[in-house]
Parts: sequence; C-alpha cells; structure tokens
Amino acid sequence: CGIFAYLNYHVPRTRREILEILLKGLQRLEYRGYDSAGVGIDGGNGKDWESNAKSITLIKQRGKVKVLDEEIHKQQDIDLDVEFDVHVGIAHTRWATHGVPSPVNSHPHRSDKTNEFIVIHNGIITNYKDLRKFLESKGYEFESETDTESIAKLVKYMYDNRESDDISFATLVERVTQQLEGAFALVFKSVHYPGQAVGTRRGSPLLMGVRSDHQLSSDHIPVLYRSSAKDKKSCTALPRTDQDTCLFPVDEKVIEHTNRVIFLEDDDVAAVMDGRLSIHRIKRTAGDYPARAIQTLQME
Ligand code: GLU
Repeated sequence: CGIFAYLNYHVPRTRREILEILLKGLQRLEYRGYDSAGVGIDGGNGKDWESNAKSITLIKQRGKVKVLDEEIHKQQDIDLDVEFDVHVGIAHTRWATHGVPSPVNSHPHRSDKTNEFIVIHNGIITNYKDLRKFLESKGYEFESETDTESIAKLVKYMYDNRESDDISFATLVERVTQQLEGAFALVFKSVHYPGQAVGTRRGSPLLMGVRSDHQLSSDHIPVLYRSSAKDKKSCTALPRTDQDTCLFPVDEKVIEHTNRVIFLEDDDVAAVMDGRLSIHRIKRTAGDYPARAIQTLQME
C-alpha cells in the first residue's frame, strides 16, 4: 500500500540513520492504511559500501511500523553503526490482497533464499498465477501466497537468461513489466547492481524526490510538504516553470536539498545509477507514446 525508498550517493549515512529515514518515510504513509511493514537494506558490515551491497538483509513484520522498529532492534547481526557512502534502502507498508498478513507475505519479496533481487509492490498482478506456474516449471520455489513474489522470481529469471553480461538493471525491469498485467508501482534492488535502484509503475502512483539524496515514494507526504509563506520566498527565486512543483523537504537535516518531485507516468522506468537518475518511457505499441522519451537529470 505504501512505498518508500531512500538512496544516498556519496552522502555518508550510518545504517541507523538509513533505517530511521526509511521508518520515518513509512510512518508518513501510515494514513493510507496497512497490515504489515518491511525493509530491505545492505547486509555487509565492512568499510567498503560496494562489498556491503553484496548481501541484502530483509526485516519484515506483521503489524505497525513500531513493531518493525522493535524487530530491527532485536536483530543481533545488524550493526547499526556501519557507515555507507552509497546505499539503497527500500521500505513498504502492505495492505494484503493476495495472502494473509504475515511476515513471509510482507514485502520486500525476494528472488531466492540468498536475496539476489528484492522488490516492493503496490497494487495487484492479475496474471500472477500464470507467471507462478511458468516459474515453478523452471524450478523456482515460492515461499509466499502473494501475487508480488512472481515479480521477484521473474526478474531473476530475466537476469539468469540475459544475453549479455552488461545488461542494465532498467532493461531487466522493463522486460519484467512487459510480462505483467494489472496495477503496480514497483521498486527493485539487487546485489548484482550495487548502489542502484529501479522504480516503475502502471496504474498505481509512484514519484521521485530528486537532488542530493534520491527518494522514491507512493506519495509526496514522506518526501515534501507544501511550502509555508516564509518558504515561498525561496520558491519564487526559482525559474517560473519550476515554481509549481516547488515544495520543501519534510526534514531539512535528512533530506537536505530536495525541493523537486517527478511524478512518474504509466510505463516510466526510473533508474538511479552512479547517483544519476534517468527516466525512460517503455514503448508499448506503435503510436501509443513517443518513442523512448528519455530524460536525464544530473545530481548536483
Ligand atoms: N498485492 C500485493 C500483496 O498482496 C501488494 C498489496 C499492496 O499494495 O500493499 O502483497
């Protein structure tokens, strides 16, 4: 029901800070209603962020974000003081549509027991039974009752059957979405693509907060608030075309420079790689959309 992802790129954050930002984001989405919550973060405890990103830790719970917070603090093997120069954290509140509320049915869902790919999802995949049948016939073992798990397995299937080693994360996700029917907002993270995240949507909302630390969210509330009269002064300093979207960060300390959001449109694939955001519209059928409208924003 709610998606919140937080990416820091050469902005050092401890795991404690990252988890606080993710949980705060989820708390701001609580008003949408939910029955479970979960986070996916890097698992390594070393000094080098890239090696730390070679494993992913999932923490998921039925119940309130507070329960998830308590669960996080119970984990013995999570060192909260480890600092990450670059990190991708994804977080989700679930409103169960397929499968009872339980830790295993909560998001993020994973491709396999070693968490190579993880995904969070808002919405419903209507052809999940067919996808599941296909993937089971290829040897994938499912652990949950959700429609979402098929997406996590499908992205690994696309990766394992890639034709070249340098396939981008965005291309993989694009291939996945071409197989999906129904409504979705999705954010993916993978040990194969350290420091990267890909978000996409069709029918369910997803937006990006851009600038020094990127965020992906199902609505703007965790990211920004409407500017007060005092803040408006800074908005009017911007070029006229930017004034309508000029909003201010909820937490100036944490989200230092975000004052811009990009609302993704259906079939946009937004990828963050090396701190740069690129948005790419999938061409569905000729004439539907302008071919491959690409917009690239360089982070300042
Ligand atoms: N259909 C998915 C599930 O049941 C996602 C529900 C949601 O939007 O939270 O897990």
